[in-house]
Amino acid sequence: MKNCLFCKIIKGEIPSTKVYEDENIFAFLDINPNNIGHTLVIPKKHSRNILDIEERDLKNVIMGVQKISQAIKKAVSADGINVMNNNEPVAGQVIFHTHFHIIPRFESDGYKHWKGKTKYAEGEAEQVAEKIRKEI
Ligand code: 5GP
Ligand code: ZN
Repeated sequence: MKNCLFCKIIKGEIPSTKVYEDENIFAFLDINPNNIGHTLVIPKKHSRNILDIEERDLKNVIMGVQKISQAIKKAVSADGINVMNNNEPVAGQVIFHTHFHIIPRFESDGYKHWKGKTKYAEGEAEQVAEKIRKEI
């Protein structure tokens, strides 16, 4: 896709520090890492995000995320891994080419998990679950 930064990275038109590539996916270090080894995994075929990506591309990407997560954990001796995927601006998506963040985590890195601050009213959980079930 024209004017997509990550499509340009796949084509080598913009430099990146590649960690893995096969016929379907590409993985490279994030330019602004949360921790050393923070990697982005993307499908070679352009899609906007997880809401429109084709099943085949998503399967390939997520299998790559597992393989590369295992490699990163060993390579940087991480204590754990966060896999993150942002969809649409309100959720923090800035680059509109599907990507998964693999962020190695260290006991001492100081990042804190979000705490849930929403509560369901009486009966609301079942209503919401029913709405979601109808859409699947
Ligand atoms: P998002 O917020 O869309 O989920 O994440 C986009 C990610 O892309 C950010 O973490 C950002 O640091 C990374 N990024 C943006 N531009 C570049 C670039 O030119 N090269 C690399 N390697 N990463 C980039
Ligand atoms: Zn793209």
